[in-house]
Amino acid sequence: MTQKLIRLDLNENHLLDDEYYKRLLTLDVDLADYPSEYSRELCESLAKYHGLRSEQFMVANGSDMVLDTIFKTMVPEDGIIGYYEPSYRYYPFLANRNERKVLEIPMETDFTIPTTTEFIDEVDALVLCSPNNPTSLSVDKNRIESLLKKEVLLIIDEAYAEYSSEGCLDLIPRYDNLIITRTFSKAWGLAGIRVGYAVSHAQNIMLLREDMLSYNVNVLSNSVALKAIDNCIFMEDALDRTDLEKQYLTEELSLLDFNVLPSETNFLFCRPPYGIDPHELYEILSENGILIKTFEDARVEDHVRITVGTRKENNELLGSLNEIV
Ligand code: PMP
Repeated sequence: MTQKLIRLDLNENHLLDDEYYKRLLTLDVDLADYPSEYSRELCESLAKYHGLRSEQFMVANGSDMVLDTIFKTMVPEDGIIGYYEPSYRYYPFLANRNERKVLEIPMETDFTIPTTTEFIDEVDALVLCSPNNPTSLSVDKNRIESLLKKEVLLIIDEAYAEYSSEGCLDLIPRYDNLIITRTFSKAWGLAGIRVGYAVSHAQNIMLLREDMLSYNVNVLSNSVALKAIDNCIFMEDALDRTDLEKQYLTEELSLLDFNVLPSETNFLFCRPPYGIDPHELYEILSENGILIKTFEDARVEDHVRITVGTRKENNELLGSLNEIV
């Protein structure tokens, strides 16, 4: 029998209770019926959960699809999408796929965003990820507000926001040039149901919905996401467990001379000890059935990204690393 891989390369969340999944899988949907248009009940439930209005939400099959629609709908053909680098590698991919141009804005060497905003007149939209994948750091909220005041369309990818101390949803009523994307794939532990959402001014959401097929999220995914919100206490409890595991993994990796950035996500961005090549580390770990994320890009090729796993998964990783370093 083949050994099950320990996947610490995709930032999934394996720290949720079995009882949570049991509750989510009690089916009460009628498979003969179409879902409600634009997932009406889910938008209402999300609105209640976040203290906003349901017209401010659009739901789709994962936040990748949400971002894809935003790029297509909100950025003119031939328009330019700015994004900070290093960040989520899908931004340029989704822009190219929609035949939009990109402008890469390098982060500072400490992975903060640069103070300069000279590029702002050149771009039709700016996408930033906070907390950022892969660096695990949040973007300072004052900096975000100063970008919003420049009236550029700002898309904030908050895929990991549940893990951070603050997100930007409270800015939604104040800025109509802001779109935030979120997902059920990370903290909610539901990458398999493919549900993500956009939050923005109702006018923007109307435009996005016009470009989205109204039945795009199926009844099963809608139902699971709705029940997840009803049982949000499980997700919130798992955040505390993630914090504990993150602290444990950070301390143990530091003892092995890894340089670990303070993470506001469910993964650690770290530089292996001197003399250990990240790609060789990847090879040895994968031979032991453990996957971590490495990078080709020059800015981050000396780092690895490791998802915070269960105590068992983390200990398997640490056991292997102890033999390597
Ligand atoms: N944004 C970021 C920053 C991510 O890391 C990911 C998943 N790797 C996504 C978006 C896509 O998430 P989803 O599963 O909702 O498509």
